[in-house]
Amino acid sequence: MNVNVTQLSKRYDGDVVAVDGVDITFPSGQTTVIVGPSGSGKSTLLNLIAGLLLPTTGSIHFGNRDVTRIPPEDRNIGFVFQSYALFPHMTAEENVGFGLLESRLPASQRAEIVESTMRRFGIERLRRRRPGELSGGEKQRVALARALARRPAVLLLDEPLAALDAQLRERLRSELKSIFASLNVTTIHVTHDRSEAMLLGDSVVVMNEGRVLQHDTPQRIYRQPANVFLARFFGDANLIEGHLDATGRHIDTALGSLAVSEPGATAGPVVAVIRPEMLALAPSHPDFTVRVEHAEFLGSRWRVEGISERAGRIIIDLPGDVAIAAGESLPLRLTRDSVHVIAAEDIAIGAHHEPDLTVTRRS
Ligand code: ADP
Repeated sequence: MNVNVTQLSKRYDGDVVAVDGVDITFPSGQTTVIVGPSGSGKSTLLNLIAGLLLPTTGSIHFGNRDVTRIPPEDRNIGFVFQSYALFPHMTAEENVGFGLLESRLPASQRAEIVESTMRRFGIERLRRRRPGELSGGEKQRVALARALARRPAVLLLDEPLAALDAQLRERLRSELKSIFASLNVTTIHVTHDRSEAMLLGDSVVVMNEGRVLQHDTPQRIYRQPANVFLARFFGDANLIEGHLDATGRHIDTALGSLAVSEPGATAGPVVAVIRPEMLALAPSHPDFTVRVEHAEFLGSRWRVEGISERAGRIIIDLPGDVAIAAGESLPLRLTRDSVHVIAAEDIAIGAHHEPDLTVTRRS
């Protein structure tokens, strides 16, 4: 079942427009991750979809059903927050089974669902423990199992891994990836963590200032960011100014003439997005050279910051098995036949500020 939000806006008292005319289709059975800096409106959007907030304008549909004014308990959703919100006096098993009590299923069938859901999350041996006797990761597994046991039509996750330490977060997110892949539930997952978004999202919605900047696969957002904000948000990028010719196929840049990977933008000033790993050493036929300012050895690779006389500061990722020292001159070539360009009207979006990734922790 698709979830559709149409022209959805939310204005809080004090005139903050937290969500501003958002249109998104969340595809049935897939995981869509909403990511963006703190204050970009992610939680507000999720709370609107959950029915915990009413929109100022716009509508929300679950399949063909208009749920815009339907209370949360009648939307058939599962919701998991950063804080686990488990019932402290109930065992893990009772917590997981709680949402099934109203289901009118016979007790034996409820017990089977609880058992299989707990197995899915690897928590069946914890069934008799109360939340006070569980670690953070275990509590969050119980919370996820509780949300899913009811077989909700839509699963909503608000920073479910943010309270866990880094190691546990990585482990649980790989587990979630395979659990979601086997589940076929329409899942909407909010996070500020870009690697979590890339790993877990079948598609990713990037928000800033209440608006959707791009909704696409993680690969396309990384390779074909729609504007400068997005190019910087998902990893480092060399943004090389250029001029797109009248055919829309080539740009002139300080690094030479480059072919455009998606021709068709209007001729004029553009920015080419060159990721650090799109450059390689080329001792015999370099396209250009840089002088190494700073080189960090990261094991499998070097992260190099250099200066090109023609194009200014350039970031390069090079294999870790060569020797690189500050001050030396590196002959480089572009490893792609063509580059992605950001059109003139999209250059200004994000050009003047780095994304602010401070996390707001909700208590
Ligand atoms: P995110 O989840 O991306 O951090 P939020 O949806 O929490 O963003 O907030 C979006 C904007 O709305 C922010 O400017 C925030 O300060 C504001 N905001 C959030 N909740 C409220 C509220 N209850 N009343 C007024 N403003 C709010």
